Amino acid sequence: MTDSQPSRRARIVVHGATGRMGQAIIRSILGSSRSELACALVRPTSDHVDEPISDEFGMRAPDVDFVSALDPDVVADVLVDFSGVQAFDSALAMAHEHRLAFVSGTTGLSDDQHAALEHAAKTIPVLWASNFSLGVAMLERLARRTAAALADWDCDIVEMHHRRKRDAPSGTALTLGHAVAEGHGVALDDHARYIRHGQTGERPPGEIGFAAVRAGDVVGEHTVIFATDGERLELVHRATSRDIFARGALAAAIWIVGRDPGLYTFDQVLAPKD
Ligand code: NAD
Repeated sequence: MTDSQPSRRARIVVHGATGRMGQAIIRSILGSSRSELACALVRPTSDHVDEPISDEFGMRAPDVDFVSALDPDVVADVLVDFSGVQAFDSALAMAHEHRLAFVSGTTGLSDDQHAALEHAAKTIPVLWASNFSLGVAMLERLARRTAAALADWDCDIVEMHHRRKRDAPSGTALTLGHAVAEGHGVALDDHARYIRHGQTGERPPGEIGFAAVRAGDVVGEHTVIFATDGERLELVHRATSRDIFARGALAAAIWIVGRDPGLYTFDQVLAPKD
């Protein structure tokens, strides 16, 4: 992770604090000397409201309660959101209202929600990423380069996730699709094929196909397949722990503190491009 790190700890508000990702991020914050937990936000109907977070995270946790709204007196630098599409709008509104930087990994956002991120970026620093893993960031770069070099090869993207995932294809698969489209010099919307069923006809040239598998407890697998007559190249990433996303989101949260308003990407948090 790169330049301009703040000299003091990043004070972080976590939104979606009792979720799988929220918990992984709080564990990462508590284990890092470069960050501290300012506030742990949960949904208003949560049984955890007003409970101390130490009940959930043990004695190492600071004297912070789970709360359902951001106290005006809270001292913080950045709000990290991993919740859901219904909760995302209020998370962004809270960050905007309190002038906190905003880092979000919530997937399945609508076009309006992406537009809201761009709008907020005029006032606060904003970083949204469909995947906070270093390996996936590298996969995205490789997919873009490979698509550019093998522009006449067929390309499909296959992803697999746990049975509780609510959106498809995954945000990461879409990001990879955009990278392939960029490599081809086209727009994904003009070439994406999300469903194949029945009499599909032959595959048109330049199509970028998606397939989603949902089963068991798979954290996340993505394969970008490039194929032509007689040979096939597969770029594969397998996540085996949510902690990789939590580590990346925490790195992004620390990186974004003190930056100017604007829309940033996770790629910018990583080491310079080769
Ligand atoms: P989860 O269902 O375990 O957690 C979501 C949490 O948000 C729940 O605790 C829920 O109670 C909470 N929530 C709902 N409404 C809320 C509100 N109004 N205020 C505060 N909290 C509220 O889900 P998860 O596995 O932690 O994933 C959360 C999101 O992160 C999903 O969109 C998922 O696809 C995404 N995700 C992104 C990445 C990435 O790297 N970008 C990685 C994993 C998951």
